[in-house]
Amino acid sequence: MAENTKRVSLLLKISIGFIIGIIFGFAIGPVIPSSPMLGTYVMPFIDLVGKIFLRLLMMLIVPLVFSSLVSGAASVGDVHKLGRIGVKTLVFYFVTTAVAIVLGLACGNLFQPGVGMNIPGELSASAREGKAITDVILDIFPSNPIASMVNANMLQIIVFALFFGVACILAGERGRKIADFFESVAEVMYQVVHIVMSFAPYGVFALIAGTAAKYGIAILAPFAKVIAAVYVGCIIHAVLVYSFMITAFCKRSPFWYFRGVREAAITAFVTRSSSGTLPITLANVRENLGVSEGVSAFVLPLGATINMDGTALYQGVCALFVAQAFGVPLTLSMQLGIVATATLASVGTAGVPGAGLIMLTLVLTSVGLPIEGIALVAGIDVILDAARTCLNVIGDTAVCAVVASTEGDELKN
Ligand code: ASP
Repeated sequence: MAENTKRVSLLLKISIGFIIGIIFGFAIGPVIPSSPMLGTYVMPFIDLVGKIFLRLLMMLIVPLVFSSLVSGAASVGDVHKLGRIGVKTLVFYFVTTAVAIVLGLACGNLFQPGVGMNIPGELSASAREGKAITDVILDIFPSNPIASMVNANMLQIIVFALFFGVACILAGERGRKIADFFESVAEVMYQVVHIVMSFAPYGVFALIAGTAAKYGIAILAPFAKVIAAVYVGCIIHAVLVYSFMITAFCKRSPFWYFRGVREAAITAFVTRSSSGTLPITLANVRENLGVSEGVSAFVLPLGATINMDGTALYQGVCALFVAQAFGVPLTLSMQLGIVATATLASVGTAGVPGAGLIMLTLVLTSVGLPIEGIALVAGIDVILDAARTCLNVIGDTAVCAVVASTEGDELKN
């Protein structure tokens, strides 16, 4: 009970930090140029608080993911079960991402954000040279696991941790000791997550206040339709797709689910980083939804790396926006091309701020749209990034809850 009250009050504090941060940022933004006190002392301090919060989150990722994945894999105890969880996860990730892009295209067609802009531009014909598919596959496998950890290369860490966790099972009694050790490390790391989370209301306030002050409310007006298309798309996707998944597979109410992942959603919104939010995402699904370590430790780090529903949806909207702004008619086959490339581009998008904008170049060039279109969205990308990262993160938690439920985890009520 006391634990519950503590959590509710933390959630409340984070929400209050978020709202006050937006109001504060919009209010003081216009005053900063004329106030040396604000510009020299207050804003840099707020910026510092936000950056410290981000670093604290990043600090948790590698030890938390590695230890919980090793102990998670070892606790699943069965290689076939691990394989089954992997296949299910990938199927859900893939399907939800494809639905997100289609929804993005639908919102782009509905809001028509670029119509009437009439910007002249060169059409780019050829697709940009990407990495060879063989190199992409090769990059999943670490040649030096310590280097993977130093570079926080999530996919490589996942691969090594899975080998290590499975080997702990195979090694019998001695392996059990190692798995127990990593279970303790993971437990300790979750305590560190709680300590960092008690700082979250201030970190959230600082990050959102800094962004709101820098960009101001005026930036919204000329791009209101693109912003609306992305935000409405994200909300519809979350409310319809995830609610359906939670109701159909987990037999729980969507309120239970959204309430459980609210801290992760707000953190994703302000940090604009799926990877940075991962420690909080892991804690939320474990503690609020009741997902086991075995499932969450595998599904969520993988999701933070490859499952980006929000990014995919955003790419759908932006591709249409650019086509409309430059007056390029988009045929159905071009739109299908967008679905295909945006799915792949979202998989390749890193879970860090602004990565989706870079991958948008790939989508534009592959369907022959002018790359200058990037400049149109770059100015408001922060606002779009907040929404898409939020959807990216909660998309991971929805799949995580579904996989957990189909694997027989006792979800909370
Ligand atoms: N910022 C996003 C994320 O971390 C990626 C993107 O830019 O689309 O999930």
